[in-house]
Amino acid sequence: MSMNAFPAGWGRPGANLTTMTDTHDVTGRRAFLSTAVKIATGVAAAAALPTLLSGAASAAPLSTQNQWRFCQKCYGLFFWGYPTNGVCPAGADHSAQGFNFTLSYDVAPNANAQDNWHFCQKCFGMFFRGYPTDGVCPAGGGHDAQGFNFVLTHDVAPTGTAQNQWRFCQKCFGQFYWGYPGNGVCPAGADHSAQGYNFVLSHFS
Ligand SMILES: [Zn+2]
Ligand SMILES: [Zn+2]
Repeated sequence: MSMNAFPAGWGRPGANLTTMTDTHDVTGRRAFLSTAVKIATGVAAAAALPTLLSGAASAAPLSTQNQWRFCQKCYGLFFWGYPTNGVCPAGADHSAQGFNFTLSYDVAPNANAQDNWHFCQKCFGMFFRGYPTDGVCPAGGGHDAQGFNFVLTHDVAPTGTAQNQWRFCQKCFGQFYWGYPGNGVCPAGADHSAQGYNFVLSHFS
């Protein structure tokens, strides 16, 4: 099936939160974690980050970071491990929904895994830093990388614990979910615009 093919009846545009809710079962987006989990792990992640960063240069085995979430307002991928939720191009901060993604970092890229993906310390979104410029950040200017060099898997088969249809936006350089009829809200204006690989992100079952 073409990546551009959507199920019959999925109008474009016209997606709103009600429509998106109706399509949850289609995309398998059912996992919801409690606020308690967020608070507990968020505080721990924030406190541990400086130590993790200082040790990132040493040889390390496969490393992963969880608490990466889909934002139901802008459709972007953002880090949910801090007490606050960054800056959303749809207004105010990001709003997590669905799976809790676990992403690899500081490992070697390969034919099906692209490196140079980074956390933006201004908007908390995931963006691609492999170009001379850093896209468009909803917090103003370009994105500002901090921390790990994430290596994201692409163009492999999705599984029960790995969701595809995640894409690079050629307008803002962010990572966003392309599996809904609409393409969210892009900080560069209008909606996101997919280009390149079809990323497949691992998540808790
Ligand atoms: Zn940003
Ligand atoms: Zn965008």
